[in-house]
Amino acid sequence: MDLFEKITSLAKRRGFVYPGSEIYGGFAGTWDYGPLGVELKRNIKNEFWKNMVTMRENIVGLDAAIVMHPRVWEASGHVESFADPLVECKKCHKRFRADQVGEKCGECGGEFTGAKQFNLLMETAVGVVEGSKQKTYLRGEITQGVHVNFKNVVDSTRVKIPFGIAQVGKAFRNEITPGQFTFRSREFEQMEVQFYVPRDDQKSMEWFEYWKEERKSWYESLGMRKENLRFKDHEALAHYARAACDIEYNVGDDWKEMEGIHHRGDWDLRRHQEFSKQDLTYFDDATKENYLPYVIETSGGVDRATLFFLMDAYHEEEVKEGEMRTVLKLHPKLAPYKAAVFPLLANKPELTECAQKIYKELQKSFMVTWDDRGNIGKRYRAQDEIGTPYCVTVDFDSLEKGDVTVRDRDTMQQERVKISELENYLHKKIAL
Ligand code: ATP
Repeated sequence: MDLFEKITSLAKRRGFVYPGSEIYGGFAGTWDYGPLGVELKRNIKNEFWKNMVTMRENIVGLDAAIVMHPRVWEASGHVESFADPLVECKKCHKRFRADQVGEKCGECGGEFTGAKQFNLLMETAVGVVEGSKQKTYLRGEITQGVHVNFKNVVDSTRVKIPFGIAQVGKAFRNEITPGQFTFRSREFEQMEVQFYVPRDDQKSMEWFEYWKEERKSWYESLGMRKENLRFKDHEALAHYARAACDIEYNVGDDWKEMEGIHHRGDWDLRRHQEFSKQDLTYFDDATKENYLPYVIETSGGVDRATLFFLMDAYHEEEVKEGEMRTVLKLHPKLAPYKAAVFPLLANKPELTECAQKIYKELQKSFMVTWDDRGNIGKRYRAQDEIGTPYCVTVDFDSLEKGDVTVRDRDTMQQERVKISELENYLHKKIAL
């Protein structure tokens, strides 16, 4: 089994990610996040927000509508050019992206048709009266919701260039070949910053370099291994871009795009100004000039980050001779549960009562879980597999001495910690 398969199987078995609409036979390119997946994904988004908005004075947040005026997508260039060239195998009739195939069909060896354009925007209709519904699209990227609100944000807050607008939310694309688990889905989430900078070639390129480094080190700060990350400059640039670079993740036999950093020039604001006929220029107090700023975009996929954090954390280790464990070494900030609480034995009410008290107390500060099934060894293995960094066990000594055993997921070392100190202890460990 390769790593993709192992992660897909663990994700389903332990409740991270399920195939979308599974009881109806599935629905291509859609995935549902289960009880653990929703925690992991939310932790990633929260860390993103904390790093990009909460801890910076020059970035503010936004949450724009998914369904926007159809003219937005004409202005952005998506209606015209958001298309992948597509080829079809003449023998098995499977379709592939032209840039991802060789001479012959990889599935059956058949010949391909010529490439055809295929628009990726997902259509929808708004309105209640049949026949007079307005056709529009589910947003193909979250970016445009920010640019159409540029003026609103400038007018309603005290931001001054250089400044950024952050957003996290769903985007939709009719991907031709969805696949490799959640890597290429038809509905997915993005986390972005549009960072507006002066119209200056050199300065804007400095910001571009700054954001490349910032974003790569964010992934590293949450435990992704340095050797599994690299920059990949784009050789062919998209219609809007002046410079573009991907942060790629090493999936073993290949490198895959996780996030794109793009210098979009003034493309978006210029086009929206043209199509909306509104003045979108920015008045610079210092130079007393009106201008359309340049923008540097950092555009990451939440689902791809979730997948790659899982892959990076996945380890199979020999605990002792002949005994293996699967462990997700997720950064404690990302782990779905920060701690699991156990009574040493399930059938001793005094242990259960004490452990329940601790569990209820910790719940006020952390996402924690409870387990009293099987023996301790089995419970440890079950928590290792879902990445719980700490296991807290209440035993008979706890009742006498007021302390518990805390076991560390990665080192498997145990130490005794006073119950009165436990919350503080975990806070310190998790904030590492
Ligand atoms: P790709 O070349 O892989 O199709 P892209 O270059 O079209 O991706 P962008 O438009 O730059 O992607 O989107 C920014 C980010 O959004 C990507 O780096 C990726 O993390 C995420 N993303 C894009 N398309 C998908 C998808 N179909 N499924 C999941 N995530 C996606």
